[in-house]
Amino acid sequence: MASQSSAVQKHIPALSPVFPEKLRFIKPTVPALDDVIERYAPSYQAGMLTNSAVVGQLEDAVAERLQVRHCVAVSSCTTGLMLVLRALGIRGDIAVPSFTFFATGHAVLWNGLRPVFADCDRHTWTVDPADVANELTEKTEAILAVHLYGNPCNVEALERLATRHKLKLIFDAAHAFGSARNGRPIGQFGDAEVFSLSPTKLLVAGEGGLVTTNDATLARLLRAGRNYGDLGGYDPELIGINARMSEYNAALALSGLDLLDAKLKRRNTIATTYTALLSPLPGLSFQRVAKRDEHTYKDYSILIDEQQAGISRDALADCLLAANIETKKYFYPPLHQQKLYRQYGWKTSTRLTATDLIASRVLSLPIYESLSDETVAAVANAIALCCSGNQQRG
Ligand SMILES: *Cc1c(COP(=O)(O)O)cnc(C)c1O
Repeated sequence: MASQSSAVQKHIPALSPVFPEKLRFIKPTVPALDDVIERYAPSYQAGMLTNSAVVGQLEDAVAERLQVRHCVAVSSCTTGLMLVLRALGIRGDIAVPSFTFFATGHAVLWNGLRPVFADCDRHTWTVDPADVANELTEKTEAILAVHLYGNPCNVEALERLATRHKLKLIFDAAHAFGSARNGRPIGQFGDAEVFSLSPTKLLVAGEGGLVTTNDATLARLLRAGRNYGDLGGYDPELIGINARMSEYNAALALSGLDLLDAKLKRRNTIATTYTALLSPLPGLSFQRVAKRDEHTYKDYSILIDEQQAGISRDALADCLLAANIETKKYFYPPLHQQKLYRQYGWKTSTRLTATDLIASRVLSLPIYESLSDETVAAVANAIALCCSGNQQRG
């Protein structure tokens, strides 16, 4: 077995392309342009181009859908996270998972704060509350958790921890518009949740973010914060930035809301199909989702155990690319291995065992609404061929 796996490693298996054109990793489904323009036109004609009526409509529609008191639209999830940390007045350390996109960590660094990395759960791949508890010191003031790929965090355990230690709890919900925890929509939890509306997510505004919270004081500060800190008195409440959402972006998101349920359904079907087709293969494993939770499948990823699968994660990615199938390694390397973050990770890096394992084995497959059943089956088949090493040569 060992000699076979090293042979596979040495030569990228030459699989003949399954697809005549490259199968893109992501392809956003956008609403009809006429619909967007119809929503946008009144503001455009009135010369109200940013942070006006359509932004207000989007905020109301989102607050109602997610059953949360306040929704504040911003220019991106990154600026939303930056402003939430600033508006909450956090001065101490923040516990964050290392296994996430770097924008999560950047929001911490931009505020001049120190991230303390916590490991992720080896089954759900979201931050492990028990390891967050291990990392807490008297300097820790907040937890910034991530609903990874749209899989809800262990929200209750994090809430208990936050209550017991008087910590702020914020969720990076960039992937999770449409997710639910035990039947409750993501968006209601912690002190605030922050969504992304950039083109790789399910709800697309072109660029944009949404902060949801039940805290009226925080919502008010965020409305100031996205507008240089000013609420209209020309005497800023805090050092804000320009993080306003434009009317056009809001119109795009508002139209996109109508597509969301169909997107969620289709992505869940694709994920189920991938798992059914791939689980017979040795050495592959999958993200665990709690029975009562709703996952958006913003991303669908598999783990490849090289010993059992007979191929490494990197060789599998190369093999699929040779077959014209684009994949991503989300999220590799994890934050504590990146140069901006190494100085914060060194103390704990030997303890981030699940993070290191998952990040070294993870491969994200194409998943979006317009993928046909045949394409999904062809991707799964290509993976099987790459793994078996029985693919056509030359
Ligand atoms: C995409 C993403 C962000 C950043 O979202 P923007 O809207 O592009 O700023 C933040 N966190 C995670 C986990 C993401 O995937």
